[in-house]
Amino acid sequence: MRLLLVEDERAMAAALRKGLESEGFVVEHAADGPSGLQAARFGGFDAVLLDVMLPGMSGYTVVRTLRSERNWVPVLMISAKDGEYDQADGLDYGADDYLVKPFSFVVLLARLRALLRRDPVPRPSRLRCGPIELDPATHQVWLDDTEIALAPREFALLEHLMRAAPAAVGKEAIVDSVWGQESADPNVVEVYVSYLRRKLGKARIETVRGVGYRMAP
Ligand code: CA
Repeated sequence: MRLLLVEDERAMAAALRKGLESEGFVVEHAADGPSGLQAARFGGFDAVLLDVMLPGMSGYTVVRTLRSERNWVPVLMISAKDGEYDQADGLDYGADDYLVKPFSFVVLLARLRALLRRDPVPRPSRLRCGPIELDPATHQVWLDDTEIALAPREFALLEHLMRAAPAAVGKEAIVDSVWGQESADPNVVEVYVSYLRRKLGKARIETVRGVGYRMAP
């Protein structure tokens, strides 16, 4: 598996490269936005690890440009920026997943492998799961064509589950993606799943014992 790592912090890039190579990945490194974009266009990579804050061009612009050129290479964004807006921005621009620094290398590997298992497919601007439709750009959700009001965390959780569907997602991965470093308590996920079930119907989100949650097919 060939990976493109676009990261301007030297120490971070060196550590990631070393870790990924020891896991058997072939890693090519670009240290700024324009060279990362160029490498992603022509490098034939299986996935791209893309920092957000980069010299020359932001990671957001890199991924948006790739998608506008109909390049669907899996992109995992990594960033020191925090907060749900940054995360939503990255995903709206066409990234597949988003990790906030500092993250554990084990989590990075798990996310990366999940991405690599999927075939690169065009990202439709709206997500759909049975009767539920979600627009990441406008933050709107519909159930059977009726708009449903969701709090920001509820929305982020639903979006995470819908992007992962039909796969199940673990509580830890949900906490990491929806709450970042803010909350370490996986039980908060249960609470928010119950909120979503109340609004969308109990059967829409399934509990997968010992794993986590998934959208009903
Ligand atoms: Ca950076």
